[in-house]
Amino acid sequence: MERAEIRIEFVPELHVFVNARRRTGRSAVTTDGSSTLGHVVESLGVPLTEVGGLVVDGAPADTSHVPAAGEEVAVLAVARPQLLAGPPRFLLDVHLGTLARRLRLLGVDAAYESTDIGDPALAARSAAEQRVLLSRDRGLLHRRELWAGAYVYSHRPADQLRDVLSRFAPPLAPWTRCTACNGTLREADKTSVREHLEHGTERSYDVFAQCTACDQVYWRGAHHEQLSGIVTEAVAEFGDGTADGAAPSGPLHTSVAAQRRRPDGAAVGAGPA
Ligand SMILES: [Zn+2]
Repeated sequence: MERAEIRIEFVPELHVFVNARRRTGRSAVTTDGSSTLGHVVESLGVPLTEVGGLVVDGAPADTSHVPAAGEEVAVLAVARPQLLAGPPRFLLDVHLGTLARRLRLLGVDAAYESTDIGDPALAARSAAEQRVLLSRDRGLLHRRELWAGAYVYSHRPADQLRDVLSRFAPPLAPWTRCTACNGTLREADKTSVREHLEHGTERSYDVFAQCTACDQVYWRGAHHEQLSGIVTEAVAEFGDGTADGAAPSGPLHTSVAAQRRRPDGAAVGAGPA
């Protein structure tokens, strides 16, 4: 095939991925004449999970388009919110544990492996369970097996949370999911969970919930204020009006397991680090 020179431009949202000289407008790229536009964009550093559209000489084009010499290409970012067929379910890579716990705190289905199971296994799980893989690793987001993926733009958990909530607009149901394992919580009375409680806890707190998956017990603990703040802020900005954010009446925040890890009594809960 004849090599072909095209000119390509990236919208500002995508500048984080590309070389500095491609951030100021159109720049030339020489292709091998047979590669698809999707491949060209990826080879310049942009995961296709972040591409919302391609425009070639003013008309929409597909990633399978093979660019010809002289074409002018614009690469667009994904629109927000990026709506999926159903409520989004996520899978987070090993570096995003705090984000996983914050999503769970808001009732968002967020699977997370605290050990590194490797890129192929993560991608396979994304496909098998139809989960959006969240990662800051572009190599991982290039994997073809992914069901869907999204780059997490910030390294700060607070910004990561806003990024994911604004991008996918998941329904929020605070205080309904286990922050430790992603299981759903059910209400539990003190009698039924007494065996899991230390004496001081049993005396001090009244409201309990238990994870239906891992049996972890939750109550309103020391970090209620901090977790409440995260929930209130998220619900105010991203809730649909039905989520109970400002005044959580149900289940809870501090776990037995967490308290045992901190015998000084500073129960850290299963909440955000
Ligand atoms: Zn659990």
